[in-house]
Amino acid sequence: MRKVLVANRGEIAIRIFRALAELEIDTVGIYAQEDEASVHRFKADEAYLVGKGKKPIEAYLDSESIIDVAKKAGVDAIHPGYGFLSENLAFAKECEANGLTFIGPNTHHLDIFGDKIKAKKAAIEAGIPTIPGTDGPVKDIQDVLTFGEEHGYPIIMKAAMGGGGRGMRVANNPKEATEEFPRAKSEAKAAFGLDDMYVEKYIAEPKHIEVQILGDQHGNIVHLYERDCSVQRRHQKVVEVAPCVELEENVREELCQTAVKLMKHVGYVNAGTVEFLLENDSFYFIEVNPRIQVEHTITEMVTGIDIVQTQILIAQNKHLHSEIGLPEQKDIVLKGAAIQCRITTEDPANNFLPDTGRINTYRSPGGYGVRLDAGNGFQGSVVTPFFDSLLVKLSTEGLSYEKAVQKMTRALEEFRIRGVVTNIPFLINVLKHPTFKNGAMTTRFIDETPELFH
Ligand code: ADP
Repeated sequence: MRKVLVANRGEIAIRIFRALAELEIDTVGIYAQEDEASVHRFKADEAYLVGKGKKPIEAYLDSESIIDVAKKAGVDAIHPGYGFLSENLAFAKECEANGLTFIGPNTHHLDIFGDKIKAKKAAIEAGIPTIPGTDGPVKDIQDVLTFGEEHGYPIIMKAAMGGGGRGMRVANNPKEATEEFPRAKSEAKAAFGLDDMYVEKYIAEPKHIEVQILGDQHGNIVHLYERDCSVQRRHQKVVEVAPCVELEENVREELCQTAVKLMKHVGYVNAGTVEFLLENDSFYFIEVNPRIQVEHTITEMVTGIDIVQTQILIAQNKHLHSEIGLPEQKDIVLKGAAIQCRITTEDPANNFLPDTGRINTYRSPGGYGVRLDAGNGFQGSVVTPFFDSLLVKLSTEGLSYEKAVQKMTRALEEFRIRGVVTNIPFLINVLKHPTFKNGAMTTRFIDETPELFH
């Protein structure tokens, strides 16, 4: 592999360029017209406009234009990052058809895990605990009500194609189900083009725990332990922690082995994450994300393994241990703890309304144990309304969770961003809250803690 195109923007495009540069592979970037001044464009060895005349987000979904650029630039492979085309089966197939390596799992895995109903079936087949739910898509509201009657409320209605917490609604009774079902369905249709829905029992106070997996093309699969992503707003992650503080050692081992079992069952290749909900030491599979995730940084910090570099080497058919140099599973050990905060240009005092404009002051924290992954996080950059509002990911590590929390609190307080509003004051409140300090947060933490907003 000598030259790779990154079909993404912002911080994750830059993260991947860095991994490629370290591997001495040339980099090609793409940008939408509205991203003409975006920094990821200038971090690539060469960069090209895609999706001319299309809306900003659609430019990054314009597979024809992207593959055209890839061929003209003479690249060997495409890394899709997260979001956009990363889980798009048709795009992965188009890459293959054009002789380009798709840096990710096989199309077969995208097919299973792009659809949560198929994913759940695979988990059940592999003998992994799942949440009681409808076995397949529901036909209509009657199916939803029947499920509620048989299993009791609350229930959660979920889009099969869902992601980013969209197309998902909770109902506490038949009336709410009847109201929310069409809303969830149309949200799913708008966001994913498909509105197949399924229903599950709603777990009241779980932790969201996910296991990072790496698999090569020779059948080797390892886990890199878990992340606790319970700090969520509207089912979207805000702060992530590795490892989970409250997990007993035997439960951790069982959880990680369960994730490996599923991925071995499907013969998984490349980086992927198996997500679970955990309640009273019992865990239930929810989905697999067949791609790099936003929060991969903290797993890198606690294991010392560069996940993005490993993805690129796996795509070159290298052996996980003898060629890539990963330790055997028994020698992959957790060192200390790490935390990631997603710093967004959203106003916590105003219902997290996205803010835009020019950043006139940007002084980032640094020092030992601090990692920054930024897109347009620099003085003078302009935050536009066209894309998601993630500005910079701040990650810290320490010998213990307590030390990582102390470092994160200091780093957040050291940050100076002026000209656009950010969620930093909210994040500081989260870090200082006793529930978070004790590692005891559940997915209900933000909703149930109004003082975080002051
Ligand atoms: P997405 O793909 O949109 O991220 P997930 O299936 O990963 O959707 O779920 C996202 C979040 O929604 C979970 O972390 C959890 O907080 C909540 N959730 C999903 N399913 C359930 C459930 N059955 N019970 C309780 N919460 C759930």
